[in-house]
Amino acid sequence: MRIILLGAPFSGKGTLARNIMKDFNIVQISTGDLFRENIKNGTEVGLKAKSYMDKGELVPDAVTIEMLKERLKCDDCKNGFILDGFPRSIPQAEALKEITDIDAVIALDVPTDEIKRRCVGRRICSKCGEIYNTSSYSKPTCEKCGSPLFQRDDDNLETITLRLEVYEKTTAPLINFYADKLYVAKGSQEGPEETYKPVKNFLKGLLK
Ligand code: ADP
Ligand code: ZN
Repeated sequence: MRIILLGAPFSGKGTLARNIMKDFNIVQISTGDLFRENIKNGTEVGLKAKSYMDKGELVPDAVTIEMLKERLKCDDCKNGFILDGFPRSIPQAEALKEITDIDAVIALDVPTDEIKRRCVGRRICSKCGEIYNTSSYSKPTCEKCGSPLFQRDDDNLETITLRLEVYEKTTAPLINFYADKLYVAKGSQEGPEETYKPVKNFLKGLLK
């Protein structure tokens, strides 16, 4: 199964992707994570991406699309994948069409107030990638694996405002672009498990 996840920053895409990945045995491909890895390893792609990410702007398409194309060639994508953070614009979606078919697009719908509330509190496990929020979890280490949590460099109020604007202007139009494959999931107040349940049913329905 080949899935795209759409949603504003902090809508919970990463958490939802991790749930889908486990149940449907497909890999999660986050272009944001791929960039962060490249930056950490000091690669050419990382050098190109860093200044844009620090500002909260999109990395140029030439860099992003090439990186994604290479990633999709890996063996672990054979059984399917879930794209988290790509495509982020109509031109990226057009480019993706030339690379692969897509079975479903899930758009995560979360009210803006909720997103603003989540943003500065996000913490991520440095080892297993589990995502927390300080509003509901105050420990400095991961519940699952005990490793230290960190805050992303671009999770500060200045870049967050710009990232939300970029989403509204450049990424949200993809919801219409993918109208024929779209499933809209409401981000639940009850938490990630409740958000995931209807999505799981929808995806199971596709397998029949
Ligand atoms: P979030 O969705 O929380 O903003 P991501 O980890 O998906 O975080 O992305 C972080 C940054 O990485 C973005 O602000 C952007 O600079 C860059 N990035 C990620 N995916 C793309 C993409 N598809 N196209 C261009 N830039 C991207
Ligand atoms: Zn962990």
